[in-house]
Amino acid sequence: MTFVIQLAAARAYIAPAPHPNSPRERKAMTYVVAEACIKCKHTDCVDVCPVDAFREGPNFLVIDPQECIDCTLCVAECPVDAIYSEDDVPVDQRHFIALNEELAKVWIPIVEVKPAPLDAGVWAKVKDKLGLLER
Ligand code: SF4
Ligand code: SF4
Repeated sequence: MTFVIQLAAARAYIAPAPHPNSPRERKAMTYVVAEACIKCKHTDCVDVCPVDAFREGPNFLVIDPQECIDCTLCVAECPVDAIYSEDDVPVDQRHFIALNEELAKVWIPIVEVKPAPLDAGVWAKVKDKLGLLER
């Protein structure tokens, strides 16, 4: 009898909702937009994302780690190979993991493809562009 009551109590328990001001829990894995996207921003990636995980800044996109479901679809779409699985981000670009997370909290979703900047082809070949990222 006691067991039945305990089972009923366990089933009736509903976990409390997190406080709106509490920090968001970090998912285990995500995909990350890295340096090559800066000033390229072709947005082909946006078209295939099933969960609208991309966020747009003035000259760069990021992936919201809270939304990304790790489907990999966007990776092949990026003409400049800017998207990596979190585990595969090159050592010299690991800081982009935190940058995606940070900017995803303040930038707005982008859900439709837009024309790339006219000089995107020129910037695609340039390295060390982090200083050019506009917030
Ligand atoms: S396709 Fe690549 S370069 Fe274009 S916005 Fe997406 S991540 Fe950036
Ligand atoms: S891996 Fe899938 S869910 Fe994550 S950003 Fe790319 S397309 Fe969207």
